[in-house]
Amino acid sequence: MKNLIEVKNIKKNYGKKEAVKGISFNVQENEILGLLGPNGSGKTTTIGMLLGLLKPTSGQILINNLKLENHRIEILEMINFISPYIELPKKLTVKQNLNVYAKLYKVQNIKERIEYLSEKLRIKELLDSITGELSSGQKNRVSLAKALINEPRVLLLDEPTASLDPEVGDFVRTFLEEYKKEKKISVLLASHNMSEVTRLCKSVLMMKNGEIIDQGTPDDLITKHGRTNLEEVFLKLSRSKSEFN
Ligand code: ADP
Ligand code: MG
Repeated sequence: MKNLIEVKNIKKNYGKKEAVKGISFNVQENEILGLLGPNGSGKTTTIGMLLGLLKPTSGQILINNLKLENHRIEILEMINFISPYIELPKKLTVKQNLNVYAKLYKVQNIKERIEYLSEKLRIKELLDSITGELSSGQKNRVSLAKALINEPRVLLLDEPTASLDPEVGDFVRTFLEEYKKEKKISVLLASHNMSEVTRLCKSVLMMKNGEIIDQGTPDDLITKHGRTNLEEVFLKLSRSKSEFN
């Protein structure tokens, strides 16, 4: 299976702070890779580098075999994302927002694409609402529509279901599962929701203090650490000091 994302020994320093300390991983076509780790472990910084928003201090990123630093425009057209740090303009209506992003990504059949996504994501009746006035569950589904507007082959999701109630969270998870099956996209999913990760991800990376301290399938990690679920593995790894620091 082809690697759509290849991350080779990337580091990111903010001044003296080493936020990401030389990590490497791949995400294959048609794979959802989970990115786990306590707050401050470097997940958002990693995603920021993959999006080209942050320049790695060193190391290399390839998307679809192209070096990110040399092929930014080409690559950004096949990527999209959900990030808590980049919100949709609040004053525009949902439809205006989706139109703006569709144009930004040079989407060909804008009207059909918005119709398709608003049907799938149950936001049809929200299209004329002001984005800033939506509930967090509604906003989340709109962000997902924005993230899929250009039919990305690579989707970077930074805690996409944080702050959602269980019903909406479940709707989003089911949607992602189905969408991935249909389009065979690559997804990097940073999440604190262990049942979500167990359900969606074939394999996971555990980050801590800017390093990958463990990786494998959820089942492998559970067995290896002698626990009964991924939540317990997470707690064990995030609390352990001597072993990994
Ligand atoms: P996570 O997403 O896993 O919570 P982050 O990537 O946001 O982790 O942060 C990793 C580390 O880098 C943290 O110690 C954080 O405080 C630090 N950090 C993040 N952004 C900046 C920044 N712009 N300037 C300085 N330090 C930062
Ligand atoms: Mg983060």
